[in-house]
Amino acid sequence: MDLSLCSINTITVRSLGLRPLIDEALARGVGAVAPWRDFLATVGTDEAARLLRGSGLRVTSLCRGGMFTAADEGGRRAAIEDNLRAIDEAHAIGADCLVLVCGPLVGKDLAGSRAMVRDGILAILPHATAAGMPLGIEPLHPMMVADRSVITTRGEANDLVDLIDSPTVGVVVDAYHVWWDPYLEEQIRRAAGRILGLHVSDWVVPITDQLASRGMMGDGCIDLAGLVRSVRGAGYAGPVEIEILSDHWWSQPPAQVLDLALERFVSAI
Ligand code: ZN
Repeated sequence: MDLSLCSINTITVRSLGLRPLIDEALARGVGAVAPWRDFLATVGTDEAARLLRGSGLRVTSLCRGGMFTAADEGGRRAAIEDNLRAIDEAHAIGADCLVLVCGPLVGKDLAGSRAMVRDGILAILPHATAAGMPLGIEPLHPMMVADRSVITTRGEANDLVDLIDSPTVGVVVDAYHVWWDPYLEEQIRRAAGRILGLHVSDWVVPITDQLASRGMMGDGCIDLAGLVRSVRGAGYAGPVEIEILSDHWWSQPPAQVLDLALERFVSAI
């Protein structure tokens, strides 16, 4: 795929600062970037907005909002307030959407935890709508239910979008999280018109760390080209984010990681 349709998620080369990342992206003809909030915090949202808006790069997402689940009302309220700030930050940097990592299981109550996610999204919806900031529900691999997200499948994310029924709320497809799903194709078709982003990395065994074991595109077993075709077929025409959380790749020089990632982006997707 053409690099103008590539977005570099900052977590992939997290040792770079914002300005070096922008320079690297521009030098390589990459069309977009996607920061995490802690990355923005290193320079402050105002300065990050100035740099990003001045760069001419598209900002495909801000990662992340969500984490709506908590054991008590105070915790849930704090999560909502943090999400309202995240919406403002996403708006400030001109992001296409705010990614929602919905929040982990509380106690042993899966149904109750999923209800907290629904209620959390509904609570921030008016602010997101007023800001014109789409919210992208990103289901995570089910191995992360207990510590990151009780929303795990494309079908569940689509159900949630249907339930909330707002043009502000859509879904984000991350290859690493959903590639295994036997209903993936049909659920991507079902999400047509509501897909806000597409993230790529690869699944390389053994998975030694559920968060930071992601592989370089082309090194693993995910049919990334097929997934991209499906998501394109469902109407998503925007950039594809390279989002590799990996202890291995974080230990390598970031410029070399970028070179390889972009080479694979062109050859494997
Ligand atoms: Zn992702």
